[in-house]
Amino acid sequence: TNLPEDHISENYRRQVFDACFSLVTPEQFKTPEVVHVSEDVLKLIGLDKNDANSEAFKHMVTGKKLPEAFKPYAMCYGGHQFGHWAGQLGDGRAINLTDVLADRKIQTLQLKGAGATPYSRSADGYAVLRSSIREHLCSEAMFALGVPSTRSLSLALSGEQVLRDVMYNGNAAYEKGAIVCRVAPSFIRFGNFEILASRNDEKTLKQLTDFTIANYFLEIKNDEKKYTSFFEYVVNQTLDMIIHWQRVGFVHGVMNTDNMSIHGLTIDYGPYGWLEDYNLGWTPNTTDLQHKRYRFGNQPQVAFWNLIQLANALVLLTKETEDLEAILDQYHTTYLKKYIQMMTTKLGLSQVKEGDKELVLDLEQVLMLAETDMTIFFRLLSNFDAKQELIKADDAFLDLIKPAFYNFDALTVSHKSEWFQWLTTYKSRLLENNFSIEERKKHMNAVNPKYVLRNYMAQLVIEDAEKGNYDLLNDIHELLKKPYSEQPQYEKWFAKRPDWARNKVGCSM
Ligand code: AMP
Ligand code: MG
Ligand code: MG
Repeated sequence: TNLPEDHISENYRRQVFDACFSLVTPEQFKTPEVVHVSEDVLKLIGLDKNDANSEAFKHMVTGKKLPEAFKPYAMCYGGHQFGHWAGQLGDGRAINLTDVLADRKIQTLQLKGAGATPYSRSADGYAVLRSSIREHLCSEAMFALGVPSTRSLSLALSGEQVLRDVMYNGNAAYEKGAIVCRVAPSFIRFGNFEILASRNDEKTLKQLTDFTIANYFLEIKNDEKKYTSFFEYVVNQTLDMIIHWQRVGFVHGVMNTDNMSIHGLTIDYGPYGWLEDYNLGWTPNTTDLQHKRYRFGNQPQVAFWNLIQLANALVLLTKETEDLEAILDQYHTTYLKKYIQMMTTKLGLSQVKEGDKELVLDLEQVLMLAETDMTIFFRLLSNFDAKQELIKADDAFLDLIKPAFYNFDALTVSHKSEWFQWLTTYKSRLLENNFSIEERKKHMNAVNPKYVLRNYMAQLVIEDAEKGNYDLLNDIHELLKKPYSEQPQYEKWFAKRPDWARNKVGCSM
């Protein structure tokens, strides 16, 4: 009774109270088609190539027909978007299928783009091929880089057309619909706690938090202050994730609290981007160009702000407010310490010494003098020989890193002088280093990737895939499995972005 008119199933759109999720049914697309499968993720959930070729697999990863035992559901969460409380959001186009116990770890399978849920609000519940390729490729690339991330099992076409405003040319157009099957221990976000706290629903909040701890944070289950321990875990894991982002030059682009995993996993690949020229102020998100809240250099601070929102939700459960505050108070100090540590490994230093903080902070500045490709710079720097003589009078001291500059001629005399100064300091610092030149190179190449998913690479894959050609998708997926290794057959991807891709950023939707 009194159900809205569009009530065709349990999927009808609504506010959901006193609950953490709603049972839903994925849409049954007529002609879905799997176009790519990540073999590593197959293995992770205990399947093999033969399984992936079966009808049953296709039906599962497109939601067309699920095994009886599955009880698919969409989760209820809220979130702070761009600094403002947005109320109920929830899985508007994501549907959890089931949990798999593999290698004694729980993995949740989740479809993205398989139709509307109670949380779809005014949107359609679908995803397009373009954004799904970006998610599929990037989550696997991140994993291979050693960056905590949700995984992507498969990329499929739904077989339907989806209407979208294509941001980069401003016209609405039909695009191919797609479905990604994501895999993660859980998809629980800060926002799952926030929505319950915002409604003063202490009972459900306690249920969710106890469930989360009992299932995913076993080691703190019996702690006297288990909610504080839980928060501390989330803080540490979030902080480590951000350090990794800064290490590889990843900019998430929409760090709203509904996009923050309690496991410190990179989640929700929307308008993300990779730094090409190093720039602390860069954001790939074209809807955030005014304030640039989610710019590269602000990610650590935004993570902190988001953690405060999670703490604000947890205080409804616990009297341990001061403990939570004490943990937050440590954040900036710990971050800076770990950040400098991480950056010194990028520089090939065997330990952190006095003066290294300045060396790192100065490098951030010189890298921004004239567009310098971050990935190429750090990779080339591993060949720097501390015994080499640096002569300021000619440009030869810059020869080694020259290929990293987008426009070498744009370097002014004063830029060169700053570079000279930095390299001179680095050179003398290397003389106190414990690594041989070979050892240093080995260590540097293990943390400085040779290949990342440059924005234009994803774009080229998308253009081919739109035409039904997935060769490049396969290639790039293969290449990014070994981002730290020399792969001569893929050398052409160790290159600066071409000129046409200068202001092209990926968009999400
Ligand atoms: P995002 O900015 O991608 O993190 O999404 C914010 C909210 O919008 C989440 O609740 C999403 O589930 C929802 N959402 C985004 N795109 C769609 C869509 N096409 N259909 C339904 N819900 C969506
Ligand atoms: Mg999201
Ligand atoms: Mg999204």
